[in-house]
Amino acid sequence: MSAAQISGDGDAALAAAAIPDDEGFRLALRRWLGQAHARFVREWPGGADPRSLDFRQAWEDTLCAHGWSGLGWPREHGGKALSLARQAIFHQEHARCRAPLGVNLIGHGILAPTLLHFGSEAQKRRFLPGILSNREIWCQGYSEPGAGSDLASVRTRAEAAPGGYRLNGHKIWTSFADRAHWCFVLARTDPCAAAHKGLSFLLVDLSSPGVRVEPIRQLTGEAEFCEVFFEDVHVPADCLLGARDQGWKIAMAAAGFERGTYFIPRLARFADELEQVRALAGRADPWGRAPADSPPLRHRWARLAADSHVLGLKSERALAAASRGDPPGPEGSSTKIHWSEAHQRLLELSLEILGQEAALPAASQDEETAGLLHAYLWSRAETILAGTSEIQRNIIAERVLGLPKG
Ligand SMILES: Cc1cc2nc3c(=O)[nH]c(=O)nc-3n(C[C@H](O)[C@H](O)[C@H](O)COP(=O)(O)OP(=O)(O)OC[C@H]3O[C@@H](n4cnc5c(N)ncnc54)[C@H](O)[C@@H]3O)c2cc1C
Repeated sequence: MSAAQISGDGDAALAAAAIPDDEGFRLALRRWLGQAHARFVREWPGGADPRSLDFRQAWEDTLCAHGWSGLGWPREHGGKALSLARQAIFHQEHARCRAPLGVNLIGHGILAPTLLHFGSEAQKRRFLPGILSNREIWCQGYSEPGAGSDLASVRTRAEAAPGGYRLNGHKIWTSFADRAHWCFVLARTDPCAAAHKGLSFLLVDLSSPGVRVEPIRQLTGEAEFCEVFFEDVHVPADCLLGARDQGWKIAMAAAGFERGTYFIPRLARFADELEQVRALAGRADPWGRAPADSPPLRHRWARLAADSHVLGLKSERALAAASRGDPPGPEGSSTKIHWSEAHQRLLELSLEILGQEAALPAASQDEETAGLLHAYLWSRAETILAGTSEIQRNIIAERVLGLPKG
């Protein structure tokens, strides 16, 4: 099998997986992605908008339909059993062709490996095919109005009821909940146990009676995350993942499953935006002056270029550690702070260079300005989601520097 033999139809991933060397795999994938993504964009009705959730979901469906899902899963569950190195190549090449991230990221990246690790055979058979095909979208119901950084304070409760549990509570910031079919929920099953000991990990069907999903409008104008209310929702006993009251252990393990590849698409985007900002800074005004003539601006850009390089090295180190099977360590916190804060600095710089263009009504902006403005607004969330910068600094202080708990 050679790179040239992989067609745009059928299970392209299966054909690519048969290529014996990683470089051949990369070239085959690049070719397939380039063609499939260009065709998808061309055929999208009314002009492609890579930021729209419908567009993102339809592209994710296309990838799944051609076998590009379950890349690291065992073959017996429909996966491709690709090495971590090949999964990394997929994420690099996907970002390289500027294809957008999907909307079932939580299903593919977090729930599927968690099911493979902790699920019963019946649960794997029931839930993995829906993720593989993207037929079932998942969301993550951890955070609550009083439990974000301090996740162990979860108050949503699941009481024993005939045939399972009765769920009552209120989750917030639940990404993609209004598109999701299922939500994995951290709920208190033992109110008397110490905070993180009485929690269970439940798989909740969002079409169940008593579930209400309310989208929250964000700074970007979209409503990507939601509030989710549970009122006397019946959760069948076979939707408990792992043992009762062991939910904390599962939630902590779930957070580590993506660590080898999580930053790859984000760093590729960082490098791409860095290049866009460089080109913008070089554009001269009618008097022949360009923002790049300013030494302080060049200094800021050079620092960001160094950030991009160092983040790339950190990502490679994380991939190597995950490939060796090393347990996740506190170094992930350093990468999270570094990436999210550098990304905010990069997009602040891009806005300064764009100047009043960024303030024009959306309809009058060109694609590049609209993209950078959207990325700037979205980046405000990046120092909050998946653990705030303050919490990451606490982890580094306590686990790396050995400082006493504050
Ligand atoms: C875009 C986005 C998507 C998200 N998606 C999901 C999702 O799909 N599912 C989900 O469950 N959650 C999701 N979240 C929620 C996210 O996990 C929480 O916002 C995050 O954990 C912070 O919790 P909080 O918002 O309650 O803030 P709080 O925990 O109330 O923190 C408020 C402020 O106090 C600081 N702080 C808190 N405790 C300490 C401390 N011990 N030391 C120092 N400072 C402290 C924080 O750093 C922060 O600045 C998402 C959030 C965002 C922004």
